[in-house]
Amino acid sequence: MEFEFGSLRFKVAQGDITKFPAEAIVNAANKYLEHGGGVAYAIAKAAAGDVREYIRISKEAMREQIGRDYIEHGEVVVTPAMKMEQYGIEYVIHTVGPYCGGRWDEDKKEKLKKAILGALRKADELGVKTIAFPAISAGIYGCPFEEVVKTFKETVEEFSREAKSVKEVYLVLYSRDSYEQALKVLGG
Ligand code: ADP
Repeated sequence: MEFEFGSLRFKVAQGDITKFPAEAIVNAANKYLEHGGGVAYAIAKAAAGDVREYIRISKEAMREQIGRDYIEHGEVVVTPAMKMEQYGIEYVIHTVGPYCGGRWDEDKKEKLKKAILGALRKADELGVKTIAFPAISAGIYGCPFEEVVKTFKETVEEFSREAKSVKEVYLVLYSRDSYEQALKVLGG
């Protein structure tokens, strides 16, 4: 499924983001970049082989780029793709979405928007053309999947008015089920 917003395309795909051929992939991180489970663990493992080593690299990058040992919603940290370079991935952009625990409101939505926008703006700054996102906050953080998908589409549309180098934004869904659910939500 594909949407065109000016010079920007928003596409929904199914697959494993650690092998997805985009110049930048986004990690649904926690604020300390601990990469303990879910897509964060998968990305750390695929990048460095050793998850603890990638956590060390991420925390060091966070100190250099943010000057703190945690990130807020909207703040992002960039680390190299390492072994994922074989798929054409250059950067991992770490962002933190809201914790929902099954609930959804305007505040959660704003935090998710900030998390998505922060990563999109950083990709623009890096001169990236193609960026791929997982369904941030729809896993361990328990935000309603449909709302996450809708918020992605809205945020990408908003970003299209300021986008410079970014031309393609992918939402990469891991399972066939979630992919099909997303198509329904977005009206496919
Ligand atoms: P959060 O804590 O932000 O909810 P999770 O890692 O638990 O983050 O999940 C975010 C989404 O990423 C979930 O929908 C999950 O199914 C998905 N996911 C997990 N592994 C991968 C992967 N390798 N590629 C793409 N998506 C993945």
